[in-house]
Amino acid sequence: MKKETDYDLIVVGAGPAGMTAGTYGARSGLSTLVIEEKISGGTSNEALEIDNYPGFKKISGIELAEKMKEQTAEYTEIKELEGVKTIEISVKAEKMTVSTEKGSYRTDAVILCTGTKKRKLNVKGEKELLGRGVSYCAACDGFFFRGKQVVVAGGGDSAVKGALYLKNLGSDVRLIHRRDKLRAEQYLQKKLAAAAVPVLWNSVVKEIKGEKVVRSIVKYDKKSGLEDEISTDGVFVYLGEEPANALARQIGLMLDKEGYIITDKTQRTDRERVYAAGDLTGGVRQIVVACAEGAIAANSAYEDLVK
Ligand code: NAP
Repeated sequence: MKKETDYDLIVVGAGPAGMTAGTYGARSGLSTLVIEEKISGGTSNEALEIDNYPGFKKISGIELAEKMKEQTAEYTEIKELEGVKTIEISVKAEKMTVSTEKGSYRTDAVILCTGTKKRKLNVKGEKELLGRGVSYCAACDGFFFRGKQVVVAGGGDSAVKGALYLKNLGSDVRLIHRRDKLRAEQYLQKKLAAAAVPVLWNSVVKEIKGEKVVRSIVKYDKKSGLEDEISTDGVFVYLGEEPANALARQIGLMLDKEGYIITDKTQRTDRERVYAAGDLTGGVRQIVVACAEGAIAANSAYEDLVK
């Protein structure tokens, strides 16, 4: 007899991919559970403004995530603030045990949607001054830096969007980028230029200084080899992401050279009844893609389980 903690399908991670996988899994008739170590939404919670998700001209990441959560919760339970520690696969019993710090669940199939984690500067002062001037999220902390000096590190879409957001709030913003060209989309580069945000080219943050709060950074100019100290109240770090692949490694899934899970077009991994969807699979890291992969993964799980 099936116990309360037995499921057909467990989805690990409740970002856009995981929530969509949960919705599709449950709607196909599988008893489904979604487990999330933080709160639902994943990195989309930090997206300041989303203007390319179909159906919404402009929506904040938090609002979109909230809408997705409401919809998923119509069909399946999402256990939040419960981190998955291990997944054990018993080949004989064809069952898997998903263990968190709060309990264990048995399941026939798992979809991994653990996304990515922020890349760090890995410099002195970053950890020590986290939350005291060092931040990874302008949408969360930008408010405290109105009228103050901030440095944004990075040259991708997130860094430029973060810099524009902070500028709009009234911060004195400088962008620091390790090359002489930005990676961000052209339309964002134009906006950055229009907002007259200075860019410190070919430069990296070598150290973040301050006692109780951030006071300055040590900037290293890669071309000249010179260092100088720049006063600032805040450092916003936007260096992209790395796959959050600890569980994938633990169960020995095949990963690419950057650590993203390798799947086929049906989101199947190289282990039976283990699927992956969303940013954790690399490729085009967009919410719309994550949702699509979540739906495909749930459909594959359904096909394999009803076989
Ligand atoms: P990203 O595109 O990977 O950019 C990371 C930036 O950080 C790059 O400019 C990179 O420099 C720099 N960087 C990486 N490691 C560094 C280090 N150790 N020291 C100094 N600089 C370092 O990351 P992202 O901006 O977070 O974007 C991630 C994905 O989300 C992308 O696919 C992006 O298009 C998407 N996204 C889209 C939107 C949108 O509005 N459509 C918004 C946000 C994000 P290099 O350029 O030299 O490599």
